[in-house]
Amino acid sequence: MLSATVSTKGARRWAGGHPWIYRSDVLVRPAGDAGAVRVSDQRGKPLGVALWSPRSEISLRLLDRDADATIDGTWWYASIARAIARRTGLDRETNAYRLVHGEGDLLPSLVVDRYDQWLVVQLMSAGLEQFRTEIIDALRAQLQPAGILARNDVSLRAKEGLGNDVELLHGTVPDEIEVHENGVRYLAAPWRGQKTGAFLDQRENRALVGRVARGRALDCFSYHGSFALHLAQRADHVTALDASAHALTRAEENFRRNGLANGEFVEANAFEYLKAKERERAQFDTIVLDPPAFAKTRPALPGALRGYKEINLRAMRLLSPGGLLFTASCSFHLSKPLFLEMLEEAAADSGRHIVLREIRGQSVDHPELLTVPETGYIKGALLEALD
Ligand code: SAH
Repeated sequence: MLSATVSTKGARRWAGGHPWIYRSDVLVRPAGDAGAVRVSDQRGKPLGVALWSPRSEISLRLLDRDADATIDGTWWYASIARAIARRTGLDRETNAYRLVHGEGDLLPSLVVDRYDQWLVVQLMSAGLEQFRTEIIDALRAQLQPAGILARNDVSLRAKEGLGNDVELLHGTVPDEIEVHENGVRYLAAPWRGQKTGAFLDQRENRALVGRVARGRALDCFSYHGSFALHLAQRADHVTALDASAHALTRAEENFRRNGLANGEFVEANAFEYLKAKERERAQFDTIVLDPPAFAKTRPALPGALRGYKEINLRAMRLLSPGGLLFTASCSFHLSKPLFLEMLEEAAADSGRHIVLREIRGQSVDHPELLTVPETGYIKGALLEALD
């Protein structure tokens, strides 16, 4: 096995529970291609085994603290089995959930999502790519999937010197797969949909919304309607809004699939729609705001914060007395404290008395490791207007 030597600063990151060591902290780079390498500190003390990415700024990703570990098929089988065991019982609630959440499952740069009898994987580092066969073999042996699709069309891979391909790795995978969650059904699109085909990271927040929704409801960034379908369980009428006509067509199909006739589908820019509704003095009893990440990079954060505040402020003003707002942000760069601060400012400017009923995060199958902030990105809050 190749070896690497890291600086004291690099070694400290592992000691502090973070698996990444950056290029500038690798004192002696492994003399070979991507794969698994043995890592030591400056004094020669063995620290563990890591995935090695020669072209990335993130050079090393910790796999095993045992520097003598052999990273073979058996190792991948056991590591993936631990991640799967952590999800025991989830299949009673849904047929679609994340089986491996990368660093959050101590399997850096690997994502595996289950959609019924199919799997969608994302291999997001050059080091990990070297173990494609072992990973796919382990998944096939443990889960017997009907097909495995690689959704490797993620921009992160360019930083690793890897291509952006969508590739069938085993069996067959259909264009659409019916997802069941909390008594609602909708179609995921594994080949072409967002992420791996659906937003599995908000499942429990959709369940919450399904429990509390009422009256006239509005879902502002609806995509294929997964929040809107939950709103429709209890609300009288649901407006599902999205800027994408294609997403709305799918939302409409999903409403029909559930035998729901209380949906209305509006193609619009949410910012303009909210502004227009405010001007009309419209009111909604339940609103959901689940926008795309406004801050994709740290420098984009100030502009993103203005965007988040604007939609939240307008949504608060549109709430009927006693109305509920579920609001979320999936921007990693927007921290939990900043998210709450933004909501406080929006509430102050809204002229309403807004209660924080619940602070929410991502679904349990997306474990957020406290020492690895990158594993947690969803912030959510359920708010209520008092008057
Ligand atoms: N809530 C969805 C996921 C939302 S993804 C779910 O749980 O499944 C974000 C969606 O916002 C995308 O469908 C995108 O088309 C839409 N979008 C992006 N910018 C928008 C805008 N300014 N106005 C309305 N929709 C927008």
